[in-house]
Amino acid sequence: MYERLRREKDHVTWDTIIWNIFNVPKHRFILRFVIQEKMQTTKKLAKIGISSTDHCLICDAEPESHIHLFFQRRYSTECLKAIKSWLLGMSSASTSLSSLIRWLRNSRHSKFKKHVLAAGIAIVMYGIWHSRNNSYWKKCIPSIDTSVNQMKSIVIRSTK
Ligand SMILES: [Zn+2]
Repeated sequence: MYERLRREKDHVTWDTIIWNIFNVPKHRFILRFVIQEKMQTTKKLAKIGISSTDHCLICDAEPESHIHLFFQRRYSTECLKAIKSWLLGMSSASTSLSSLIRWLRNSRHSKFKKHVLAAGIAIVMYGIWHSRNNSYWKKCIPSIDTSVNQMKSIVIRSTK
C-alpha cells in the first residue's frame, strides 16, 4: 500500500516536472508534441496530400515517422546518446520517447537530476526538429559535435 502510494506520488511529481519546470516553453511544447506524435513529419504531410513524398528529408531511406526522425537516424541517436552520457556519465540506446520517460520516471535520481534530464531530452528533441527543418529550408545539417555543444549550453542556461 505504502509502496503504491509512493509510486503514485512519484508519478505526479514526474508529470509536474515534465510540464512545469522549463523556462523555455518551446522545449516543453516540443516534448509534449513528440510524445503525442503530433509533429508534422513528411509521413503525416504526405498522408494528407501536402507533401509529395513521405520520405525522410535527410537520409531519404525511409518514411519520416516520429520514431525514424527522433530515434533511428544516426544524427538523432548520436545527439541523444551524447547528452545522456554528459548528464549521467553513462549512455544506453533509447528506442522511443515513452521508454525513455518510463526509464527516467523509475530511476532513482533526485528530483533535481530528473529535472535536468527532462530538460536535456526536450532540448535534444528540439534540436533534432530544428536540424530537420534546416535541412529542408537551408539544405544544411549541422555536425553532431556542433549540435551537441549547442544543446549542452542550452541545458546549462535553461536549468539554472
Ligand atoms: Zn532518415
